[in-house]
Amino acid sequence: MSIAPIEPHQTDEAAAAQYSTAQNGAPHAKGNGTDAAASRAESASSAEQSDGSSRPADNPDDDVERPVRRKRNRKSTSHLKAVPETLPEREAIRDAAEAYAKELLKSRPFNKAELESYGRELLEQMGQPEKFLGFAMVMIGNFFWKRQFLATPFDRRMLLLPHCLKHAEGCPADYDEFGLDCERCGACSIADYKVRAEQLGYKVLVAEGSPVVLKIIISGYIDAILGVACLNVLEKAIDKVLIAGVPSYAVPLHSGDCRNTKLDESWVWAVLDKYEPLEEEPETSSYIPLMRASSRMFEEDFSQLVPPSRSTTPADAASPLGQTEAVSLDWLANGGKRFRPFITLAAYDAVTGGEHQKAGAGAASSTGEGAPVFSDAVRKVAIAIEAFHKASLVHDDIQDGDLYRYGNETLHRQHGVGPAINMGDWLIGLGYRLLHQARTEIGAEAACDIIERMASAHIKLCDGQGAEMAWQNGNCLDVEPIDALKIYALKTSPAFEAALYAGLRMAGPVDQYEELIPAFTRHVGVGFQILNDLKDWQGDDNNKLVAGQDALALRPTVLLALALQAASPAQTEAIQQIMEARDPNEMQIGRLRKIFSECGVFEKAETLVDRSRERAEALADSVEPEQLRQLLYFFVDTILAAETPEQKPDTNVLVSLPIA
Ligand code: SF4
Repeated sequence: MSIAPIEPHQTDEAAAAQYSTAQNGAPHAKGNGTDAAASRAESASSAEQSDGSSRPADNPDDDVERPVRRKRNRKSTSHLKAVPETLPEREAIRDAAEAYAKELLKSRPFNKAELESYGRELLEQMGQPEKFLGFAMVMIGNFFWKRQFLATPFDRRMLLLPHCLKHAEGCPADYDEFGLDCERCGACSIADYKVRAEQLGYKVLVAEGSPVVLKIIISGYIDAILGVACLNVLEKAIDKVLIAGVPSYAVPLHSGDCRNTKLDESWVWAVLDKYEPLEEEPETSSYIPLMRASSRMFEEDFSQLVPPSRSTTPADAASPLGQTEAVSLDWLANGGKRFRPFITLAAYDAVTGGEHQKAGAGAASSTGEGAPVFSDAVRKVAIAIEAFHKASLVHDDIQDGDLYRYGNETLHRQHGVGPAINMGDWLIGLGYRLLHQARTEIGAEAACDIIERMASAHIKLCDGQGAEMAWQNGNCLDVEPIDALKIYALKTSPAFEAALYAGLRMAGPVDQYEELIPAFTRHVGVGFQILNDLKDWQGDDNNKLVAGQDALALRPTVLLALALQAASPAQTEAIQQIMEARDPNEMQIGRLRKIFSECGVFEKAETLVDRSRERAEALADSVEPEQLRQLLYFFVDTILAAETPEQKPDTNVLVSLPIA
């Protein structure tokens, strides 16, 4: 069974059908169409070195970067996270990694697939077993970023320590919202590091969880991280922090035991109080300035870019005339991952010379001269993208009867259904106004094209949402995987499509990307929605959601469809009973999860997400310029990052922030 490559002008439905056929044919049909797509990518990049690595060619002036083949290991990685037992063994890999990293081009951050291929190559060269792959990847990452880490002033660095280093039996410290508040009693090494680091000006955090760290970096407080953690935590940090382009240096714990753990202390002291400014070498490019620029639009620059007119004072904001604007603007400015405005800014930057990316992690924090800024027109277009998205969420929460979003009660529960619908409409109007205001700079034609793309995205979204509600009100037990995937291609992909299109169109004509944009964002959107379905089964403290909410709300998810497709008559009957139960209890939810597991639903869904990633990357492999290609890979790595729920320390007070 082969899967024909995706024809760009294929309708969403047809593309969704691709996914489903793949599913109904042979499960996990590897070695067919998908591999064909991958092999196309491979042939596209066979111009590379014969040894397949991405290190520079022997020809010195041939320093152009070539697209690398992105092979991924998606399955469980626990067998790849051993730490060599003895110090000499650890030092051997560390020193070899230093030599290896010297050869790597440092003009842009590596992505996870590249770092994995470097680690495998290093272990192969050393004749070391694959079980040390995680350790080798951390070592290579360290020496890739070391010069830029050492060039970061102490007061722009964070020292991140694991609470499992504390003296488990005798530690007197308590936890606050940022983590363990060490009292420097000296019973463990945390006090030594903390005292010296704070003397130098470091920000010190005794906590785990890269989302918190990324939030602090994006808010511009720090530009580089010195981290001590086990390989499990460092794996997530690679997913979130390193590929974003944050200069980091990590010292792995010898085990992931979470109590009284050990490390090579001298490795921390070797860099903690060292500062070496960069000489001539340029900074490695980074996505941090773009993330900061995207975040600043909704924080310190928001009222300048979207000045209120009816709610300029607290009294006005509370008045009948001012409250719609006040609540809508507050809803727009707060909450959410802001993927879409980031996509618009990053796409515009990638095809207009990449000034923000090239600026490097240290640039935009110092908002002084030299920090690249986007024009108000470009930022208004990015905010318009988010306004349309936030409007759709208000309406979606009403249609789905959702109780919480971003950890707070949904707008319709706070203000009533009528006012909430009205606030959603207000945001749509604001979106069109911002696009119109931008026309003076981006040109009337570009503004019209973006408005047209937004309008068609809005219609598709309503078609998808309408179909979902029709299934919910009809007989949801007849839903097929293809039906769910069609809804995802209509509901989720268009907003990504409009965000990417707007960024590229502001920079000029997009003929060369006309086919790529809908095809690439379709895969990202469908994969993103399936990941959301999978997350639904992990529960979500932030939104006080118990697991399996979507299934119990009779939402036509691909998980439910896959279960119904594979279920035995007895299982189908059980699903029916649970779905028809007035108020299904924990027991029934557990029963549903069991049936889903027995039908292999979660694995099949992960395979579909893998398929989304592979197809999106296969489309990106042939994109020029290089900056846009790498950015598309970055979108896949971050938007389709498989999220595992953060391990909260036993005190359960640590804030988890929904950052990409
Ligand atoms: S030094 Fe700090 S972290 Fe370590 S045991 Fe004492 S109070 Fe706890």
